[in-house]
Amino acid sequence: MNIEGKELSKIYGNGESRVVALDKVNLEITANDFISIIGPSGSGKSTLLHLLSGLDKPTSGSLTYNGKDIYSFTDRELSAFRRQRIGFIFQQFNLLPVLTAKENIIMPLLLDKKQPDDTYLKQLTDLLGISDRLSHLPHELSGGQQQRVAIARALIAQPDIIFADEPTGNLDSKSGSEVIEIMKDIWRKMGKTLVIITHDSAIARMADRQFVIIDGVLREVKQDEILL
Ligand code: ADP
Ligand code: ADP
Repeated sequence: MNIEGKELSKIYGNGESRVVALDKVNLEITANDFISIIGPSGSGKSTLLHLLSGLDKPTSGSLTYNGKDIYSFTDRELSAFRRQRIGFIFQQFNLLPVLTAKENIIMPLLLDKKQPDDTYLKQLTDLLGISDRLSHLPHELSGGQQQRVAIARALIAQPDIIFADEPTGNLDSKSGSEVIEIMKDIWRKMGKTLVIITHDSAIARMADRQFVIIDGVLREVKQDEILL
């Protein structure tokens, strides 16, 4: 999936309360990219993620997925597109507490009236090292295991791109780096596009392409330039 954002700006409010959350952001993501975006609180990370995933629209600028302008989709087309093509991973694992790990993982398919492909489910949960935890409830799993379940859920519909918003925010640094290593491994094996938003520079450095966002201005940097 090739994604191209051009001159994306987002302005909230007006007059005294006017905030330029994103300032003419240009971003090209090609299939198989593993990208990190780092920036302090309030720098525009969530806003950018919302625009890139079609959850929100910019004040100006354009965004295409394989040449298609997704902001011109109807709401219905856009939500179908998001369900089928995009996987989301959050800081809060957002697992349903009364469902087992397996039920949580396959939930997106059931909502779409599809059956899971057992071979793919096995491959995915083997890669994530959670095959022997599938009948457990979330509270019976460690934080790192819960996040792996959430990763499996994000990947079950075989999306082209994964957006991860502070995926290690609730994990200690050891399980955080393990989770990112696993995501990187899966990303290599499956050829996905992975975009990670973080404020942790150790995590940001694990990506192949690294961006810094400050006051709504996005800039690609070299590995050793991340000093935050
Ligand atoms: P981050 O995710 O990096 O913390 P955000 O994208 O949430 O940054 O916010 C960027 C800026 O836009 C901040 O100044 C924030 O207060 C402002 N902002 C975000 N969402 C809204 C909103 N819905 N209304 C007004 N201002 C907002
Ligand atoms: P967090 O600090 O958990 O990352 P965010 O900064 O992303 O939270 O904001 C959480 C929600 O609040 C977002 O949906 C955003 O749109 C909204 N928001 C953020 N800043 C403002 C603001 N200044 N005014 C109104 N809504 C805001």
